[in-house]
Amino acid sequence: MSAPSSADMEYYYSQLFPFSDIFYWLNHSREPSLDMANRELAMAFRSGAYKRYNSYTTPEEFKQQIERANPDRFEIGAVYNKPPKERDALLKSEMHPLHKELVFDIDMDDYDPYRTCCEGARVCTRCWRFITLAIEVMDSTLKEDFGFRDIMWVFSGRRGAHCWISDRRARMLTDIQRRNILDYVNVVRDRTGNKRLNLVRPYHPQLSRALEQLKPHFVDIILGDQDPWRNNDSAFGTLITGLHDKSLQEALRKHWTENPDRSSQQKWADIDAFAAAETRNNHSNASRKQDYMNKLKECKEDIVLQALYPKLDVEVTKQTIHLLKSPFCIHPATGNVCVPILDGFEPNQAPKLHQLQEEMQKHGNNVKETALQPFISHFETYIDTLIQHTEDDNSLKRKREEVLA
Ligand code: ZN
Repeated sequence: MSAPSSADMEYYYSQLFPFSDIFYWLNHSREPSLDMANRELAMAFRSGAYKRYNSYTTPEEFKQQIERANPDRFEIGAVYNKPPKERDALLKSEMHPLHKELVFDIDMDDYDPYRTCCEGARVCTRCWRFITLAIEVMDSTLKEDFGFRDIMWVFSGRRGAHCWISDRRARMLTDIQRRNILDYVNVVRDRTGNKRLNLVRPYHPQLSRALEQLKPHFVDIILGDQDPWRNNDSAFGTLITGLHDKSLQEALRKHWTENPDRSSQQKWADIDAFAAAETRNNHSNASRKQDYMNKLKECKEDIVLQALYPKLDVEVTKQTIHLLKSPFCIHPATGNVCVPILDGFEPNQAPKLHQLQEEMQKHGNNVKETALQPFISHFETYIDTLIQHTEDDNSLKRKREEVLA
């Protein structure tokens, strides 16, 4: 860990932080507009102070003000009907939020019942696969079910990922609509995994798709690599409780207590073997037997989703006015840059501020020669597309208005 000093941060803002790019991204245009002029930015300082309701009208002002204040990090909020910086001169009722990107937050902590390689704030290549997979499932939902196009995932700097959706339709969502989207997307609400999920059948097509996406990784990551249920306490907590039959649960509990150290893969197979025995003993009728095995299959499907389906921090998504850390900020504890997530990204690929400072020194202060550049290039290409989409939307809107005029 290499926590940056306040001098490091000053250097970062003056030499490296892509202020213009962030400005254009939030402004949806290279021309100054209200999308940025009326946008709230909040600054967090190492003293613990937090300054809300800042706003900037040009990229130059944005850079100058952040550089001068030198916060630990800053966060992005909603676009209001008035410039947030004028808030003190306004009646509270005069200012209200108009829109903001739809955002999601996925945190590694929520996968702790299923990961054995690290815990708490730590993250490695192996457990990062939980996040990569969550991003894949979320992307399918956001693109195929909601038709969103302008989606960007950003490394949170330590152990999670933030999703920013900039489609106009996403930005204009009301709080109620944001909650409705959460209702649709947020399937695994109990993070402990200690309760049977018991999802309604047949699965919603969204869930059937997610299950198919996740199944092979369940075998690979959960039963293979992480092997969380080798530990009996964990198996009694998040595996056995997912089953529908108490007598099956008891038989397995007994077997695993007598035979400790059976792997997750062996325990997963034990479930089928013991279930077959249960039906032989207690369910003579063929259709009841079938019914029992169907229920078991459903339980196992639910367990796959329970373990690997994206676990969302819902508070971040619910409200238009909620603030979320800006991309390219430095994580105050790790010194990592919160870079956009490129294909195949792993947390150890995120540039660290100290590393960037060395690279800058070596290459005559040329940002293009640093490890930050691939992420900036990616971001700039993304912004070009976003601005093009926004212009297309605007011209379509104008045409419609002409026809209806
Ligand atoms: Zn790990």
